Amino acid sequence: MTLFAKILAGEIPADFVYQDELAVAFRDISPQAPFHALVIPRKPLTSVAAAEQEDAGLLGHLLRVAAKIAADAGLDERGYRVVTNVGEDGGQTVEHLHLHVLGGRAMSWPPG
Ligand code: 5GP
Repeated sequence: MTLFAKILAGEIPADFVYQDELAVAFRDISPQAPFHALVIPRKPLTSVAAAEQEDAGLLGHLLRVAAKIAADAGLDERGYRVVTNVGEDGGQTVEHLHLHVLGGRAMSWPPG
């Protein structure tokens, strides 16, 4: 069971900012920006690499949730970043698909 599966099961507490039948969002425990939340599907997909065509609607929903929580956090005017890490080179540490939503400061590009 991954860490995020335990959060979904209520075994590990999290600071939720959004919940629906398909997805939840909660604050990252180690925020890299003034606002840093993770959007995850309830479905235990490892990453976007594991998603099938049948998951296309779910993936779109996750992006919609990311935009909603960013708007709710007041990030629309200045902007924000949505990123998902995949595998070792992508820097993924938890093997349950998640979108990072980061805002409240200017982001640099390219990422490290
Ligand atoms: P990844 O490195 O896989 O893209 O992102 C995993 C994220 O999960 C990291 O930003 C890390 O800070 C966050 N994280 C790790 N453990 C916990 C935890 O127990 N609770 C919360 N809310 N976030 C966590």
